[in-house]
Amino acid sequence: LRAACDPIALGFAESALDRCANQRADAAWLAAQARHPQAKLVLVAGDRVQVAGGRVEARPLAGEEPTLLLGLDPRGVPWFAAPAETLSPSADLRSIAMQGLVPPHEQGLLAQARSLVHWHQRHGFCANCGAATRSVDAGYRRRCDGCAADHFPRTDPVVIIVVRGPSGLLLGRQSSWLPGLYSALAGFMEPGETIEDAARREVFEEAGIRVGAVRYVASQPWPFPSSLMIGLLGEALSEQITPDPLELEDARWFSRAELLAMREGRDPQGRRFPAPMAIAHHLVLAALE
Ligand SMILES: [Zn+2]
Repeated sequence: LRAACDPIALGFAESALDRCANQRADAAWLAAQARHPQAKLVLVAGDRVQVAGGRVEARPLAGEEPTLLLGLDPRGVPWFAAPAETLSPSADLRSIAMQGLVPPHEQGLLAQARSLVHWHQRHGFCANCGAATRSVDAGYRRRCDGCAADHFPRTDPVVIIVVRGPSGLLLGRQSSWLPGLYSALAGFMEPGETIEDAARREVFEEAGIRVGAVRYVASQPWPFPSSLMIGLLGEALSEQITPDPLELEDARWFSRAELLAMREGRDPQGRRFPAPMAIAHHLVLAALE
């Protein structure tokens, strides 16, 4: 992947923060971080945050007691996150990544903050006994005092795969997407499934293509709200495409020449594949190598 693309461009994949996973459960250590004179707080409202001057706008913590620690930056300054009702002005995370509104090393902490805040907002009660839960370990666990269950922030794995066949690369599009946009096939993994089998199942469900060998390329946090895109390349065992009309409006094989034209914005039908902030872009380039 490094050879195939500019790693800087992949959205949400880079963070300069040390999450301090070995220390953050220590209440005294956490309280000391909150007292740090330069401690920063990132506010999150839905998928919107504040940016200013090309950077994440974090406000001083000012003696508050936040519960969600993002980590320590290279200068040792702690960054925290908290929910907000509304933020004005603000930018949504997709636009931030798509337009590069903040440096890549600040996009990872935004994904972390958004996913963590979203999880806490929806897990105030125990899924086991219904009692109220409370945040512990700097926000990386919720404890139920009713039944002593521990709940951990979730990450939902999604397989995303570009399949290579004799006629080129398999891409598809959903009817809700912008006109002309084709991308890698993707879907949520199911319980008890390997990454490889999930990818084979998704491709067969969506396009009717059988996939043999599957190779991992790279991953990308996708904080809408808390997915992890697992980027793969697969080798086709069959060629006849049968798109599932419930999932895809179209799926087809794209030749190398077509893909290069799409990348350069000179496809005669105006077709294209996703921008460099999305892992699908890099999977296409990796498959073309
Ligand atoms: Zn409980």
